Amino acid sequence: VGLMATGSMAACGDKSDDTATTGTGSTAKAGKVGVILPDTKSSARWETADTKYLTEAFKAAGVEAEIKNAQGDKNSFQTIADGMIQSGVKVLVIVNLDSGTGKNVLQNAKKAGIATIDYDRLTLGGGADYYVSFDNTEVGRLQGQGLIDCLTAAKATKPIVSFLNGSPTDNNATLFKQGADEILKPKFDSGDYTKGPDEAVPDWDNAKGGTIFEQQLTKEPKIAGVLAANDGLGNAAIEVLKKQKLNGKVPVTGQDATVQGLQNILAGDQCMTVYKAIKKEADAAAELAIALAKGEKPTTATGKVTDTETKAEVNSVLLKPESITKANVKTVVEDGFVTKAELCTAAF
Ligand code: BGC
Repeated sequence: VGLMATGSMAACGDKSDDTATTGTGSTAKAGKVGVILPDTKSSARWETADTKYLTEAFKAAGVEAEIKNAQGDKNSFQTIADGMIQSGVKVLVIVNLDSGTGKNVLQNAKKAGIATIDYDRLTLGGGADYYVSFDNTEVGRLQGQGLIDCLTAAKATKPIVSFLNGSPTDNNATLFKQGADEILKPKFDSGDYTKGPDEAVPDWDNAKGGTIFEQQLTKEPKIAGVLAANDGLGNAAIEVLKKQKLNGKVPVTGQDATVQGLQNILAGDQCMTVYKAIKKEADAAAELAIALAKGEKPTTATGKVTDTETKAEVNSVLLKPESITKANVKTVVEDGFVTKAELCTAAF
């Protein structure tokens, strides 16, 4: 009965140091940078990785940065942004909660002559000066391929695949889905696989994800594989599968290489995750922001991403995601993203 003791594994891997996030410095001319992160619940990454790496990057450069988290609240997001604009930041970096509210914030910043950077999520129609992220379509492709590999290893015949997609208002979720569909569609078309329920989870809310998956499994008890868009949603599905003793039998995908996701992989309950080197992403965004804060013209955003709403091209930095299975969890540890102690296992 769930003797994998998830509770104790999670407890020993728990890091709840919500440290204050203001980096101060004494650089002569650089202006202040404001950063707004989205929430702490849709993924562990924002609190454990992005906050930490961004804080470190600005600190190392001696540039003052105010890093705040909107805790999933669109009104707070606006209020934080207004406060930062009034306090005279020179650069505003945001991870929008949805394109609509993000657009508003970016436009207000622009009016105040503030340089803007979309971090991780592109704000459609937002017109940010720069965009820093990963190749998000590739993230979805890796998930699709990871699921196929696990289903093949499990010798599944005509598996029914269900989808737990990210928030419909997150442009990244659209791209993840496009990538996954690109890889899985041929399997559905050929009849090798059967397409099961396919639903989006509002705001990436993990609890809602669990409810949605529970309904999917009730309607379609033969679901044999789950394309979950991130580790949080993957874990929500795994919790439901556990109740039916189907965990470990039904492969589930993920994203973010969170401690929980990696533990689920090591326990055999999760098929794969996608590792995005968030330190690189934070460093790239900080580098751009620092140049802008010093009034310099950045030279690093050499990529172009099309805003599908305005068709405008945004100068971008796009990094490469990596697929992680039980066989290469080590990669994430060696990269310094998580520690052996956090994973709390003797598997290495
Ligand atoms: C990010 C993912 C994250 C998700 C939920 C996406 O925009 O790219 O890394 O898991 O949001 O926060």
